[in-house]
Amino acid sequence: MPQPVTALIPRLREICGDDGVVTDPDRRRTYESDGLTYHAGTPGVVVLPTATEQVAAVVRLCAESGVPFVPRGAGTGLSAGALPHSQGVLIVTSRMRRILEIDPAGERAVVQPGVANLDVTRAAAPHGYYYAPDPSSQQVCSVGGNIAENSGGAHCLKYGFTVNHVTGLEIVTPQGEIVRLGGKAADAPGYDLLGAFVGSEGTLGITTEITVRLLPAPQKVRTLLAAFGSMDAGGAAVSAIISAGVLPAAVEMMDALSIEAAEAAVACDYPPGAAAVLIVELDGPASDVDAQFDHATRLCRDAGAFEIRTAADAGERARIWKGRKSAFAAVGRISPAYIVQDGVVPRTALPEVLRRIAELSAESGIRVANVFHAGDGNLHPLVLFDDAARGAADTAADVSGRILDLCIEHGGSITGEHGVGADKACQMPEMFSPADLETMNLFRSAFDPGGIANPDKLLPTPRLCGERPGVRTGVHPLVAEGAAEQF
Ligand SMILES: Cc1cc2nc3c(=O)[nH]c(=O)nc-3n(C[C@H](O)[C@H](O)[C@H](O)COP(=O)(O)OP(=O)(O)OC[C@H]3O[C@@H](n4cnc5c(N)ncnc54)[C@H](O)[C@@H]3O)c2cc1C
Repeated sequence: MPQPVTALIPRLREICGDDGVVTDPDRRRTYESDGLTYHAGTPGVVVLPTATEQVAAVVRLCAESGVPFVPRGAGTGLSAGALPHSQGVLIVTSRMRRILEIDPAGERAVVQPGVANLDVTRAAAPHGYYYAPDPSSQQVCSVGGNIAENSGGAHCLKYGFTVNHVTGLEIVTPQGEIVRLGGKAADAPGYDLLGAFVGSEGTLGITTEITVRLLPAPQKVRTLLAAFGSMDAGGAAVSAIISAGVLPAAVEMMDALSIEAAEAAVACDYPPGAAAVLIVELDGPASDVDAQFDHATRLCRDAGAFEIRTAADAGERARIWKGRKSAFAAVGRISPAYIVQDGVVPRTALPEVLRRIAELSAESGIRVANVFHAGDGNLHPLVLFDDAARGAADTAADVSGRILDLCIEHGGSITGEHGVGADKACQMPEMFSPADLETMNLFRSAFDPGGIANPDKLLPTPRLCGERPGVRTGVHPLVAEGAAEQF
């Protein structure tokens, strides 16, 4: 039987100190949700450790007492991954924010999990290096959260997601052991547990130290903004650029509604009358960049761009990015409430999926703004609704779910980069068979036999999804077949 979480408080104070334990109900409510405020709850208790040993001691205490724990970084997640457990300990890494090492010669940085993504680049920049994965939340989101979500960003088209940039992790397992996976070297023999941990959304333990790759800062960066009269024309430009063998660092697209929101919020001054804008950025050696940039510009013009602006310097580049970077928050200017959705489709399916989203929007009367990583096929429809209007939230949730169905139908997935969390766990059976899910559960139980690490996230559970609870008895069929081991 799990102990009540309140019984742990005296020991938690011994481990993290009085100022490292939050019990006051109002202060606990500060942590009631991540960026997806639609899901909220008050944590049983919050701890703010400053060192790996403290994290390990807290987790050991949870394991001995059968009390669940939920890791939390900066709380910018958009899938309710850090949604607290009312009878659990919320372990917040915000006081573990030291950059432990910048190693330019080895092209590595070693950081604590609470370090903000952009601070890695800021620390590496004087040495001529940077950290490539760049979620739009990069000024605030933590590297620990990026690892848990396998986060992406505008520049992942060329450079890949977080998983491609992590070489080593120190983790605290759900039993409270401190374990190292990988290191500074590029690869290690054996099963890729490091790869499995990246994207595991806090269900396999807590990351307490992270070794990432640093890349040399590109010699040259060039950015253009192209305005089109239709989304189809913008989409045609993306296809033309990629199929011509040009590999931009980023290709981002915004539709008319998201441009309207960005204009209202940050006056980004995008070309008036645009039904779609494309931001194309190229980086690398100066000679390559100039040639490819001219080629991409021509392809945008051939696809029907009625205006093309190129950034002459860093200031103009920042102005081009300003509208895109602030687009999610900007939508608050044109709608009282909205759902940020995240799905991915093969890039070639984008035009059809965008057309179907427009039809869904017209049929339901729910406005949908599209701002997305076009080069990756990673969609972020913003589903707008008025939370004061009766039933509007439910209709918006329905439209949002149907957009994900569209992604699956077109060979994509229910999440491109924001994770599954509590928000989409009940949609996992739409992508995976019961046997697939059972296998994932077996893997999870190998790390967490007690089921205390971020429960009710990532995988569907009866409690979460209202499935008929059924207690499995006897040996699992995969174990009986000798196809899997259960520890
Ligand atoms: C405006 C805005 C723009 C965004 N843009 C992007 C984008 O371009 N690309 C993108 O990928 N995401 C984006 N996001 C989503 C979000 O920023 C990322 O998912 C980010 O990685 C979350 O980091 P965090 O520190 O806030 O994590 P949290 O929200 O605190 O937690 C996220 C998950 O990670 C787990 N976790 C946190 N720390 C640890 C740890 N140390 N060990 C184990 N598990 C841990 C939590 O349990 C939870 O499951 C955006 C969010 C916002 C609000």
